[in-house]
Amino acid sequence: MYAEIIIPLALPKNYTWAIPTELPDGVMIGMRVEVMLGSNKRYAGIIKKILTEKPAGFNPKPILGILDDAPIVYPAQLQLWEWMAAYYMCTEGEVMQAAVPSHLKISSESVFILNEEVAIDGQSLSDTEYIISEALQIKKQLSLVEIQKLLDKKSVYPIINKLIQKGICSVEETMHDKYTIKVENLLHLHPDYHTEAALEQLMNDWTRAPKQLALLLAFLHLQKTEGQVQQKALLEKSGAAHAQLKALIDKGILVVEKRKIDRLAVDLSLGNTNLHQLSAAQQLAYDSMLEQMKTHSVNLLHGITGSGKTQIYAALIEHAIQSNQQALYMLPEIALTAQMIRRLKQYFGGKIAIYHSKFNPNERVEIWNKVKSGEIKIVLGARSALFLPYHNLSLIIIDEEHDASYKQQDPAPRYQARDTAIYYANQLGAKVVLGSATPSIETYYNAMQNKFGYYHLKERFSEGALPQIQIVDTKKQSEQSAILTPQLLDAIQSTVAKNKQVILFQNKRGYAPYMICETCGWIPHCKQCDVSLTLHKGKNLLSCHYCGAAYPVVHTCEACGKQSFKQKSFGTEQIEEKLALALPHLRIARMDLDNIKGKNEHDHLIQQFERREIDVLVGTQMVVKGLDFEHVDLVGIVDADSLLNFNQYRVNERAFQMMEQVSGRSGRKNDQGKVIVQLSQTNHPVIDFVKEHDYPAFYAFEIKNRKHFAYPPFSRLMSILFKHKENHIAEEAANHFLKSLDPMIQKTVMGPAQPIINRIRNKYIWELCVKITKQPQQLAIAKKQLLHFIQLISVHPRYKSVQIIIDIDPN
Ligand code: ADP
Ligand code: ZN
Ligand code: ZN
Repeated sequence: MYAEIIIPLALPKNYTWAIPTELPDGVMIGMRVEVMLGSNKRYAGIIKKILTEKPAGFNPKPILGILDDAPIVYPAQLQLWEWMAAYYMCTEGEVMQAAVPSHLKISSESVFILNEEVAIDGQSLSDTEYIISEALQIKKQLSLVEIQKLLDKKSVYPIINKLIQKGICSVEETMHDKYTIKVENLLHLHPDYHTEAALEQLMNDWTRAPKQLALLLAFLHLQKTEGQVQQKALLEKSGAAHAQLKALIDKGILVVEKRKIDRLAVDLSLGNTNLHQLSAAQQLAYDSMLEQMKTHSVNLLHGITGSGKTQIYAALIEHAIQSNQQALYMLPEIALTAQMIRRLKQYFGGKIAIYHSKFNPNERVEIWNKVKSGEIKIVLGARSALFLPYHNLSLIIIDEEHDASYKQQDPAPRYQARDTAIYYANQLGAKVVLGSATPSIETYYNAMQNKFGYYHLKERFSEGALPQIQIVDTKKQSEQSAILTPQLLDAIQSTVAKNKQVILFQNKRGYAPYMICETCGWIPHCKQCDVSLTLHKGKNLLSCHYCGAAYPVVHTCEACGKQSFKQKSFGTEQIEEKLALALPHLRIARMDLDNIKGKNEHDHLIQQFERREIDVLVGTQMVVKGLDFEHVDLVGIVDADSLLNFNQYRVNERAFQMMEQVSGRSGRKNDQGKVIVQLSQTNHPVIDFVKEHDYPAFYAFEIKNRKHFAYPPFSRLMSILFKHKENHIAEEAANHFLKSLDPMIQKTVMGPAQPIINRIRNKYIWELCVKITKQPQQLAIAKKQLLHFIQLISVHPRYKSVQIIIDIDPN
């Protein structure tokens, strides 16, 4: 017997290994096995197919061992991976790399880290496991080779796998993301004192150390009331010092037990809240969605900001899980805030789990297993949650379906999670609900064609109107006062005076996006990228927003030697500073990548804002996504021109979405809110639609453009990037590639051209853009040709070092 196995690498195809007869019975599709690749690399791969025939032409090497007792993925997932690899033109190994949590991947490159908090119970370990756990305790981490040496054998994956399962070690793929299993200390009375008599005796004989006695009494009290005693709770309640506790333990009166905390255990007080009663309008939307789901597998819930889409999703989820099915609720990563999680946990308690990339691998594996068994009914997650092993998924909700972050940029698979979810739902026979206040043009088009079910919810829950939009023309201002115009400053002041809050939006971070020599016009650029450097005043440095490189602030022009730099344009940091100068009594905070590190800080700032400890929040798109603030009455879009000046076919769509979404944060409860849009292109057509909050009119305008220029949804785009450290090699390779294509495909290609940013990390970039009709046939032909020529180029003497990146349906 033979097996086709997926290895988490970008291999051109899956390879086949032999299943040795001496392996235990029951090798199944979806199980992990240890295999050797090349002469010394070992990987845990997943069995995709079991074959009875020996592959022609070579002798497969044997599988070295089986890691699992049962499959870790379902066949449906393997089918999804295969489709993704074919559609997005990557390998199944790359899909596996993205789909499977790191703990389930082991390779020669893995490092195994001791989980320090876990008490190791030597009794439960085999001899070999014991040797490794001893070594881990001394060295804290071991590589695969070290483990092989210690045990003097090559095949060590099964042992490592057991140690991971027992929580003794973790797999680390990169050196940054350290994580640990959470444990708590529980305290017990030593068995010697389990009888009343023995305990009484102990206390009667107590002579010194009254504080220890008090602590013991506190322990007994807690034990009686709580059933079990956590060390932390005991110390808090009794006010005793750690030394006193230690004394009781040393005397053998109390015993410590380290216990792994189930990270998914949620507060039991949650989950009892009933769903809110839907308003009449929401009920209509809900009924209509359910009705349309009978005939459409994909359905668009188009509800204006503040219409209460979350309530409707929750009701739909409730409906799905009543028949014991699973539901997936997908959100853009950044919108997975504590606020959203709190809201949903209130309704669904322990039935819901959260899954996103900031979680550590231990938690991810726990969720993985509980989703697989069906114990978890609802998953709330970002795009990677699509890859969990659902037991019986019947509903996928994709909130903010228009959001660009559903598309993974780098690395491969460069997949669009919304589209992939639609494919997967079809495969599983599940239903999809897409939700947005500003649907993507493609989605809305599909709804208008009746390919998708559709419902338009046009009123806000609070019965408040959508905010009123005021345009402020910055052409009439000096460069300096255009940042915060007198109109905006006035409005901020009067809003705060009414005890309301303000959000100021600017999609650039830093202080000034570039500096320019006033004498000769020279602009400091990144040494590795074709990008001007952004001044960060607080950190006192210049930074490249493409590669992250930092440089000291330049004072002398490298071209003319003069010292007369001017700062141009402005980012969030400058807005914050200018506002603090203009209105010093306000409490101002900034939310962008520079001062928000990680999920916790993000949530913390949101909570501060919710508690009204901040008057004005200045931020990038982080402040926009899905947040619901009760007291925001004014939103300022500080520089709307910057949203309109992109050379990209989606520019109007993105600008409309961004402005409408930002506006949607204003006046969500009670009063009508207000939005001030500062810009110079006051007669830009998109602005009129934003002013009226008129999505259908915007769509009618935009779909004409798309049709005229044959852009999606009237065509499909594929972008092919050629990257090389020599500009002319990248350009030649692109031309060579183009000329090799079938003339019929050639006609559909734009380029080669240099993208606006034509050098990143020292590599020059040339791009071909293929625009093909939506006939599946043409797509298949084009893909086949592309693959063929990529193969040819990869062995071409002149171009083989050119990196080629294919992006299907690019953003
Ligand atoms: P959307 O996602 O459509 O912009 P939300 O779901 O955030 O809107 O709802 C807006 C606000 O209205 C939230 O604060 C929400 O709690 C409240 N809300 C919506 N529907 C209801 C309801 N049926 N009962 C009580 N509150 C509701
Ligand atoms: Zn100069
Ligand atoms: Zn750079």
